[in-house]
Amino acid sequence: QAKKSGRNKLRFFDQRMQDTISSRANLEAELRKALANEQLQLHYQIQVDSAHQTIGAEVLLRWIHPVNGIISPAQFVPVAEETGLILPIGLWVLETACAQLKKWQDNPATAQLILAINVSARQFHQNGFATEVRSVIERHDINPALLKLELTEGMLLNNLDDTIATMRSLQEFGVQFSLDDFGTGYSSLQYLKRLPLAQLKIDQSFVRDLATGYNDQAIVRTIIAMAHSLNLNVIAEGVETEIQRQILLKNQCSHFQGYLFGKPMPIEQFESLLSSDSTAAACI
Ligand code: C2E
Ligand code: MG
Ligand code: MG
Ligand code: MG
Repeated sequence: QAKKSGRNKLRFFDQRMQDTISSRANLEAELRKALANEQLQLHYQIQVDSAHQTIGAEVLLRWIHPVNGIISPAQFVPVAEETGLILPIGLWVLETACAQLKKWQDNPATAQLILAINVSARQFHQNGFATEVRSVIERHDINPALLKLELTEGMLLNNLDDTIATMRSLQEFGVQFSLDDFGTGYSSLQYLKRLPLAQLKIDQSFVRDLATGYNDQAIVRTIIAMAHSLNLNVIAEGVETEIQRQILLKNQCSHFQGYLFGKPMPIEQFESLLSSDSTAAACI
């Protein structure tokens, strides 16, 4: 089950990095180079069900900077959003994830694995987003049901009718949607029931203190009950301890993600995690 991986520790913003990419303009230029020079990488974090069976993975972007090492998306995705660089970067993430899905799909042992990718607001709201996603899926010849798109609450609100139209056209094609960081935005049941979602993803801020925080237990219980009444499955993110898993399980949470099961890791390590995992022994 949980294989501890010490090999992909994030390095934090240090002085050297501050100097290299001190200004926005500088960061933008560096990021442009990163995309052109293949410094972007995808890490994969395992998702499991209540029986520890592997469901798939979330794809998480990493920038492998030649001087500064691994940079977290929290540091550069906001700048990529502002500058519009998130469009080519997001397309690269989609292409790379679909190429990986194709490899898994062609191996009976891994054919069921689902990949979840994060989509940013600007990417989702660009003209032709649904068409672009469909054409990448078709070009890679993958089953659309193996791709899950993670959206956040905030990005869905500003034009609800367009949002629903985009989501619906992808949903009809077979793609699934998960609502990421759930509980941190402004969801009302009113609009939640209108969105064609498959999954709610409980934000890790509610999972963190689950063992001691009775308010968080109440929130998590409410989110899960609400999701079930809307016919959505629920995944908890940021699950780090067995106690957290037990509490979530007791409240009918069906899917889990977090360091307890595995950190985000490069594809080679992820595939060896799959094959070392007793519950996924058949894989690879
Ligand atoms: P997110 O989608 O909510 O991803 C979950 C974050 O929690 C990831 O941080 C993950 O590494 C971290 N995490 C997972 N399990 C645990 C745990 O057990 N404990 C703790 N403390 N943390 C855990 P990461 O990889 O730094 O990504 C941060 C955010 O950057 C993501 O939040 C997502 O919003 C964004 N992001 C990542 N990849 C992409 C991408 O390809 N495109 C876009 N647009 N955004 C991305
Ligand atoms: Mg996510
Ligand atoms: Mg999240
Ligand atoms: Mg988040």
